[in-house]
Amino acid sequence: MTIVAGAGVGGGSLIYASIFREAPASIFTAPWPQEITKAELQPYYNKVADMLELQVLPPGQWNPRVRLIKEGAEKIGAGDRFATVPQAIAFRKDLKLDPANPPTEADSVEHVNKYGARQGTCIHAGICDFGCPVKAKNTLDVNYLFIAQKKGAELRPLHIVNRIESQGAGYRVYFDRLENGRRIGGSEDASRVILAAGSMGSTELLLRCRDQYKTLPNVSRFLGKNWSSNGDLLTTAFYKDRMLYPYVGPNINSAIDFGDRSRDGQAFGIEDGGMPNLLFKHLESAKAVNAPAASHHPFQRLIAWLQKEVQKENPLPHLMPWFANGIDAGNGEYQLKRPWYFFGRKRLHLHWDITKSLPVFEAQIKTHVELSEKTGGRALVFPWWKDTLVSPHSLGGCNMGNNAQTGVVDHRGQVFGYENLYVIDGSTVATPIGLNPVHTIAAMAERAAAIMIAKPPAGSA
Ligand SMILES: Cc1cc2nc3c(=O)[nH]c(=O)nc-3n(C[C@H](O)[C@H](O)[C@H](O)COP(=O)(O)OP(=O)(O)OC[C@H]3O[C@@H](n4cnc5c(N)ncnc54)[C@H](O)[C@@H]3O)c2cc1C
Ligand code: SF4
Repeated sequence: MTIVAGAGVGGGSLIYASIFREAPASIFTAPWPQEITKAELQPYYNKVADMLELQVLPPGQWNPRVRLIKEGAEKIGAGDRFATVPQAIAFRKDLKLDPANPPTEADSVEHVNKYGARQGTCIHAGICDFGCPVKAKNTLDVNYLFIAQKKGAELRPLHIVNRIESQGAGYRVYFDRLENGRRIGGSEDASRVILAAGSMGSTELLLRCRDQYKTLPNVSRFLGKNWSSNGDLLTTAFYKDRMLYPYVGPNINSAIDFGDRSRDGQAFGIEDGGMPNLLFKHLESAKAVNAPAASHHPFQRLIAWLQKEVQKENPLPHLMPWFANGIDAGNGEYQLKRPWYFFGRKRLHLHWDITKSLPVFEAQIKTHVELSEKTGGRALVFPWWKDTLVSPHSLGGCNMGNNAQTGVVDHRGQVFGYENLYVIDGSTVATPIGLNPVHTIAAMAERAAAIMIAKPPAGSA
């Protein structure tokens, strides 16, 4: 399992596809704490939608992938399950998209968003997953973090937190500041600490504090358990006579929803994936500069395989990347471990066994194949897919629960056994969601913030 995550001021938002989807009510049953229900989260889902100015792709800007997935949904009898989905992207309403001649940076309209930050409008550059060239994505640095900074919060980039220590009434946070290739240590004391380092980051930090530094020795034994890949899967299809331009338009725009387990008893959704041509350009230049090294690149291997399958020098415009999310077994576990050949510091290790999750992945692949065939394409399922799964939606590690036996944090994100120490991020998501998770992560953060504001810690301003 490969996990992809954003690292920077803005976290995953810097490279997310900007798709926002509400989890269905059926997700929020045990082991979720009883306080967390869809009805409880709804006002916070709405608040996030307003804060991030969500909108759907304007009809005049549908790209060929959106048309294809809609056609596919209709042809497999799931037309009523298809929809374009909310995106945190600023679109220019008057733009008409011609995918063969996509807009250029000159077509982006510079504007000031409702918080005062400068942004552009979407030019369908198709590299949302690498960062937007015209700042059309509503990344956190132009809304939440921008507002926080205006209200006096200090943002410190290039700081790596490596230890949190309980100090009786509060906490000491130790960090390294990265400067000119050096690490300069420092610390800060606080009456309340909110950890938001994501599924990998928050879990690793708490594992080290509990087991290595023993500065938070009472963190729940549940820490690290029940990790989920959110059932993420990417496959492709080749359309000999159809131009799909997968590198034009936002990386995801629409979905077919099978969350009700109506296909093979599995809960999942299918989305139109995108394929930034940046990747291909990089590989082409790498090939020109250093052919032997490039041929060992994993993506080069994938492209070589695709070229062999479709017998075309440049198959890219004819490819449809199908993306899927689903409810997997949610049974991964993070541990601190040394590989047998390694004597140094223990590393974060993910124990992941695909066996119990196979049914959902197989149902997704079956649906991808059916969608491809019904729309005149040829499904290309990478033969090594079980060994090359990639999860951009890593969830869990510091899971929410009703108590320290079934979770690491309570419904507010407060760590069991440690008052005023919170984890508020995707590591607290108690089960797979089966669709893009940021809307739920953000709604839970809004709820936790509302509770905290109502009850500040003693002695704080
Ligand atoms: C390519 C890609 C596309 C995606 N597209 C979508 C999408 O369209 N819709 C959707 O719902 N989800 C999407 N996701 C998933 C989404 O981005 C994540 O679920 C979400 O960002 C998780 O939020 P988080 O707050 O848990 O952590 P993150 O956003 O990962 O933030 C964690 C932050 O903590 C920092 N950090 C980590 N460790 C430390 C440390 N020790 N000290 C200091 N800082 C630290 C990191 O640098 C990062 O800034 C995508 C993910 C990827 C990778
Ligand atoms: S499609 Fe291009 S311009 Fe539009 S949001 Fe994504 S990266 Fe930015």
